[in-house]
Amino acid sequence: MEEISLHYAPRETGWIEVICGCMFSGKTEELIRRLRRAEIARQNVATFKPRIDKRYSDDHIVSHSDDRLRSVVVDSALEIPSLAKDAQVVGIDEGQFFGMELVEVCESLASAGKRVIVAGLDQDYKGKPFEPIPQLLAVAEYITKTLAICMVCGNPADRTHRKTPQGEWVLVGAKDIYEARCRKCFVPPSD
Ligand code: ZN
Repeated sequence: MEEISLHYAPRETGWIEVICGCMFSGKTEELIRRLRRAEIARQNVATFKPRIDKRYSDDHIVSHSDDRLRSVVVDSALEIPSLAKDAQVVGIDEGQFFGMELVEVCESLASAGKRVIVAGLDQDYKGKPFEPIPQLLAVAEYITKTLAICMVCGNPADRTHRKTPQGEWVLVGAKDIYEARCRKCFVPPSD
């Protein structure tokens, strides 16, 4: 999906953009692309990620292709409004690891006139909606669903298959634990 044209961007108000999809679909890459373009336009950008994401780098958001952008690690979405006070554009990666309070935080940031861009998984490894992203989709002005390529058949893939049984979501070494699957090839775990 192409970026919102500046001509059509809302004026004198903020808004919410959500970039959602399965793992390996390029969500973080797309988030970084949008934030970098805002930085080039000399807009004040603040980027956040939850502490759970220890992948590769502590003070950056990092895509699987090793694209990176400086970010602030927060324990809760509730820390974001005061840290993003002066930002025109607020980027949030791994949104699925924040609780439901992320929805209210994004709404208040957008109502305060900021452009808010959130990337996150919309389904868990069971193929079920992964809150708070579905709630966020309902209140977002712009939604992008990124697709990966199915590791089994090569179809467009929107599901994350876990190759090892059970356990919490892990992001370190994700390529060994998860793979993208299409609807046809995805088999939900029995647990
Ligand atoms: Zn497939």
